[in-house]
Amino acid sequence: MKLINEIINQQEQISQWRQDLHKIPELAFQEHKTADYIETILRGLDVTIHPRMAGTGLIASITSGKSDKTIALRADIDALPIDEKNELGYCSTHSGCMHACGHDGHSAMLLGAVQYLSKHRNFDGTVYFIFQPAEENEGGGRKLVEEGIFTKFKIDAIYGMHNWPGIEVGKFATRTGALMAAYDVFDIQINGKGGHAAKPHMSIDPIIITAQLITALQHICSRQTDPLESAVVSITRVRSGEGYNVIPQTARLSGTVRTFSAAIQENIIQQIQQISESICQAYGATCTINYRKCYPATINDEIETQQAIEAIKTVVGEDNLILDNPPSMGSEDFSFLVNECQGSYVHIGNGQSASLHNDHYNFNDQILTIGASYWVTLVKQQLI
Ligand SMILES: [Zn+2]
Ligand SMILES: [Zn+2]
Repeated sequence: MKLINEIINQQEQISQWRQDLHKIPELAFQEHKTADYIETILRGLDVTIHPRMAGTGLIASITSGKSDKTIALRADIDALPIDEKNELGYCSTHSGCMHACGHDGHSAMLLGAVQYLSKHRNFDGTVYFIFQPAEENEGGGRKLVEEGIFTKFKIDAIYGMHNWPGIEVGKFATRTGALMAAYDVFDIQINGKGGHAAKPHMSIDPIIITAQLITALQHICSRQTDPLESAVVSITRVRSGEGYNVIPQTARLSGTVRTFSAAIQENIIQQIQQISESICQAYGATCTINYRKCYPATINDEIETQQAIEAIKTVVGEDNLILDNPPSMGSEDFSFLVNECQGSYVHIGNGQSASLHNDHYNFNDQILTIGASYWVTLVKQQLI
């Protein structure tokens, strides 16, 4: 492993930043203390700090040399509504909120890279450092795009990195093409006719229709999607009824759809509509469907992924690069950024930790210097 010596020497400092951030987790778009903490560190370094974007989003940059080439490195900064169950000297001090996805570590690794590059400006071009809010559910990446990040700044290529439990410390995984799935949600309201449970023939029972609909929707993936493609339709919430003897008027079911290809996604949307309407119609009910596309799929561009791979090889060696890790059905709002700009996203091994979003998860401080070295190496290899 060829980590950058000065970054190894900063290990304690970067780890302190990570643990400080771990203590003050904040939910999407509420990362005020987090952004202030990061900004305080940035103010102590020789970098340009730009006006905040997307509310709590911080963008800093360093320009060196004469080239107009640019590169952007993005970390996410938000936490999750989870009660931390770890027993650490630096646990969450915000009850009900926790850095259970490691964004504290992502921010600290990027700060490590900013600190190093602010002192070692032996590159030619501009690096943008993006501390993005609201990766979880709220689409901070989309907000940055809507607020014109790519028109305010000329960004040639953007890179992202996420820790990955289960991948060994010192290893990275990436691939060209689909890496993370698109994430959509839907609500289906079934409008029946309420009545007395003893007189079912006088009503239109939305609960029976819901039961049939749940089963029928499972056929979309198993019977109506090419088995060589990947897709998930999960029903995750069912709500209806109040009493033992009342057939309710309505029932509501909700769920999520995960896909990699836009064609498959459109087919699933159409199938959900057709199946829901047909089943409801068969029983004399109607339905209202609210389908929302949340995050697009994260698709890595070929050239930038090759560049990420070169940096990984330099830092940890070819043997520690995993190219055949399967894509994840999880999603990532880096997708909004990489949809608008060339870019690539990598996974860095977090070792055998609890899984992401688990109340016992913790970011592995051992990988901070590996991630920061990757960022710096990527910049130096691109801006020459
Ligand atoms: Zn997450
Ligand atoms: Zn995350």
